[in-house]
Formats: sequence, C-alpha cells, structure tokens
Amino acid sequence: KASAAMNYSKRLGKNRFHFYSEELNELINNKFLLEMKLREAIRKQKFMIYYQPKVDLHSNEIIGAEALLRWWDDEYGFIPPSEFIPIAEEVNLMDDIGKFVLESSCQQLSKWLNLGLKPIIMCVNLSPCQFLQEDLIEEVQQTLKSTNIPNHLLSLEITEGIAIKFLSQTIEKLTLLKQLGVKIALDDFGTGYSSLNYLKQLPLSILKIDRSFILDIETNIQDQAITRAIITIARSLGLTVVAEGVETEGQSLFLKEEGCNEAQGFYYSKPIPADEMEKLLREGLKES
Ligand code: C2E
Ligand code: MG
Ligand code: MG
Ligand code: MG
Repeated sequence: KASAAMNYSKRLGKNRFHFYSEELNELINNKFLLEMKLREAIRKQKFMIYYQPKVDLHSNEIIGAEALLRWWDDEYGFIPPSEFIPIAEEVNLMDDIGKFVLESSCQQLSKWLNLGLKPIIMCVNLSPCQFLQEDLIEEVQQTLKSTNIPNHLLSLEITEGIAIKFLSQTIEKLTLLKQLGVKIALDDFGTGYSSLNYLKQLPLSILKIDRSFILDIETNIQDQAITRAIITIARSLGLTVVAEGVETEGQSLFLKEEGCNEAQGFYYSKPIPADEMEKLLREGLKES
C-alpha cells in the first residue's frame, strides 16, 4: 500500500519529517505494541548490525567503521533506530541490546583481524542507560578480552545526553575506559545544551561534528564559520575531528581544507552489512 502518513518528530530537538506507511506509523505511536515487538526481536535475535566506513580525509583510506543497529520486523518491515531506541531505553531493554551491539561488533572486528585485514577502529554507540549500568566497564573489558581485539581499536560514541544528569559518574567511567586505551568520541557535537562545557570536562579522544552543520556547508557561510571554529577548538584540545553526514565531494574538500581529520557519510558509503564492509576492507573505496 503506497499511502504514506507523515510523522512530525521533534526528538533530540531536531525537526525532521518522516514518511512511513500508515501501519508503521501506528506501531511507532503505540509504545505498548512497540515494546512487545522489541522483546520479541530480542528473543528471536532479529537485530542486525550494519557498518559505515570512517575515512581518513588525507589518505582517503578506511580507518574505522561505525556499528549501527538495524531491525526488520516481520510484520512492519524496517524500523529505524531513531524510533525504537528511545522506547527501548524507556522500558529498560537498551542494556541488553547495547551489549549485543558491543559484543557482535567486536566479534566481527576480531574476525576481520584474524583474516589478516588491515586493523580498523570499531566505533560503537553507547546509550545513556548503558552508562548507568554498574558493570559497564567490566562488560567492555570482558568483551575486549574474549574477542581478543586490541583495546585501542575500540571507540565508544556518547552523546551529550549521557552526561547531562550524571556528570561526575560519567567522567569517572569515561576516565576508567580511557585508561584501558579505549577511545571516547563525543557524537553529534554542537546540538546539545552545553557542548563547550563537556569539551572541557569529559576525557575525550574524538569529536564528531553533527551532520546538521555539514549539510549546507558548501553554500552557507554560518555553517562554514561554525564548522571551522569547531575544528579549531577540537584540534587545540588535541582531539581527532570527524565530520558526519558527508554526502558530496565539495563537502569533503571543504573539510579537508579546514583541517578536519576524518569523515563519514553517504559520499563514501552508506551503512552496509558485514560482508560488504569486508569487501571494502579488501578492495578499498572506489576512486570517485
Ligand atoms: P549516530 O550515531 O549519529 O549515527 C549516524 C547516523 O547518520 C546513522 O543513522 C547513519 O545511517 C546516518 N548517516 C550516515 N551518513 C549519512 C549521510 O551522509 N547522510 C545522512 N542523511 N545520514 C547519514 P541511523 O543508523 O539511522 O542511526 C541513528 C542514530 O541511532 C545514531 O546516530 C545513534 O544515535 C543511534 N544508534 C544507532 N545504532 C545504535 C546502537 O547500536 N546503539 C545506540 N545506543 N544507538 C544507536
Ligand atoms: Mg554515532
Ligand atoms: Mg552522530
Ligand atoms: Mg547525528
């Protein structure tokens, strides 16, 4: 059925329009049903992980991959993470799902390393509720140990939302993780409430410029100025700067020119299944 319903979503303070089928729209607005579906998905292992290459802007080589969760429901089809993750957090399912993502993506990297492929950094998103887990550090340590991947090949991506309520706890945990050699990336930078305060207080290694600043960077002088400033601040603080949502060559050239270190986005590759990522690791990105 082609009829599309519009769902106006203001989540994360970003205004976005989504076009879904009426059925999917119904599911998304029915938390109870969505929660039931989520529980079923966990039981029946319906989740998959896609990987999006992260590219070094100077060498144009793949140096990392971000693990992104994917869910196809038998009845409703593809349900985007931006829709189900907030519900999963609300009903305390995100700990289990997050553990699955961490373990599976580390196992995948371990497999690639064992195949003799070039080492890359695996980037895993952490949800705020995973941060409240008593045993988060042990979970990470245990995963690194059992998959036998070097600690410096894991990067954990957090958003400002994580830190807001529990700043001292967050700093403590991040410090322990950093001491293990794990990298900490601040995701979606520039969209939260006290971005600069976090830059000052959190033990970060990487800063990811939010996609919203990159979108019109070829023409919008405000976005250019803001992005330039973010790159300068990050580099002065000794952080690696990554741009997300790079979709055009022009955007990538601007970022490279301004001293941004790394980029991710559809210009290089969409998030892809593990076998396609493996192929890219073998063959490299196509010259464009
Ligand atoms: P994020 O961590 O900022 O991930 C980047 C999002 O931007 C991904 O959306 C990716 O598919 C999308 N993207 C990448 N390049 C481009 C581009 O060039 N253009 C456009 N328009 N989009 C691009 P996705 O996979 O839908 O994930 C959305 C968010 O859901 C993620 O944002 C992250 O916050 C969350 N998420 C996804 N997987 C996980 C997970 O395993 N655990 C947790 N806690 N959160 C996750
Ligand atoms: Mg991320
Ligand atoms: Mg992001
Ligand atoms: Mg983002």
